[in-house]
Amino acid sequence: MKYDYLVVGAGIFGAVFAYEANKRGKKVLVIDKRNHIAGNIYTENVDGINVHKYGAHIFHTSDTKVWNYVNQFAEFNNYVNSPIAIYKDELYNLPFNMNTFSKMWGIKTPAEAMKIIEEQKKQYYVEEPSNLEEQALSLAGKDVYEKLIKGYTEKQWGRDCKDLPAFIIKRLPFRFTYNNNYFNDRYQGIPIGGYTKIVEKLLEGIEVRLNTDFLANKEELVNVADKIVYTGMIDQYYDYKLGVLEYRSVRFETEKLDCENYQGNAVVNYTEREVPYTRIIEHKHFEFGTQPVTIISREYSSEWHQGDEPYYPVNDDKNNTLYEKYRELAEKENKVIFGGRLGGYKYYDMDKTIAASLLLVEKELG
Ligand code: UDP
Repeated sequence: MKYDYLVVGAGIFGAVFAYEANKRGKKVLVIDKRNHIAGNIYTENVDGINVHKYGAHIFHTSDTKVWNYVNQFAEFNNYVNSPIAIYKDELYNLPFNMNTFSKMWGIKTPAEAMKIIEEQKKQYYVEEPSNLEEQALSLAGKDVYEKLIKGYTEKQWGRDCKDLPAFIIKRLPFRFTYNNNYFNDRYQGIPIGGYTKIVEKLLEGIEVRLNTDFLANKEELVNVADKIVYTGMIDQYYDYKLGVLEYRSVRFETEKLDCENYQGNAVVNYTEREVPYTRIIEHKHFEFGTQPVTIISREYSSEWHQGDEPYYPVNDDKNNTLYEKYRELAEKENKVIFGGRLGGYKYYDMDKTIAASLLLVEKELG
């Protein structure tokens, strides 16, 4: 054996593990089938603008340990995510807050907003919401649900809101203050200079092989290390033998525009069903860019098919049950450990991914 660990996938989970193992004197090889490191947090500098090639990533966490950890590898700016939602010709602030309610109903005070929402909720109230629609209606009432949630969610997930798990919408804050900060977390920001740099630093001094597909070269690669940390799709690893887990994929139409400021905000969601994309990202605003040009990406959500990039695991009951069966198989492995969004089939944010990787480090390396 040449290496102690083979890390499959140079995303944040794999890179953190590789860094920590290397630091402890382990010999590590990292491979990735793409031609670049950093997985889906990869950013590419184009005309001085860091373009989030695989969709917008905003770092936010309440975990001080994770925040301090990631700050070793980057300096974060003070970006606060405050998306705008456009529904037909109406424009609203997100997340759902007093600015949203004031625009929607022409009211000013929290008491007025609460009264309207209470009235609407009464019609739909359920003790324990069992799906996203029930959850959204009993949280926000009919107007907010129909204008800002239903169309967007059904586009993003390609499923009726009644067939989606309630927890997805619980990610979104709902508040009666005039606060447009999308996240409730204590810490938030964008790494100055892009995310790729973080992963470059994590992988400094570690052997990395790009354009290297583990499954296509399994025979050879399986024997190069004592242990394997696998961050690819768990069902694909097992050749889908128990069934195919569902994912959502995302496609971006990215355009450089000859203007300085296209939409005045990094993130603008299009919440009506009829607009085919879910949102437009204007990358420069993540870093308060002042370049004379701008780069925008329209984001289209689609069902994942073999060969597409998997983005979001679809954590409904059916898929979670299937995943559990794969997890049971995985537990029997003594050489391979699964992790990350794809290996763990979890809708993880970056901070949770880092925390999960550090937990593995503790378990594996003490
Ligand atoms: N969501 C919505 N309307 C919006 C934005 C989000 O209904 O304008 C819902 C939607 O169901 C989505 C969920 O909130 O799947 C979580 O959104 P978030 O922005 O956290 O998703 P991500 O950034 O991970 O794509």
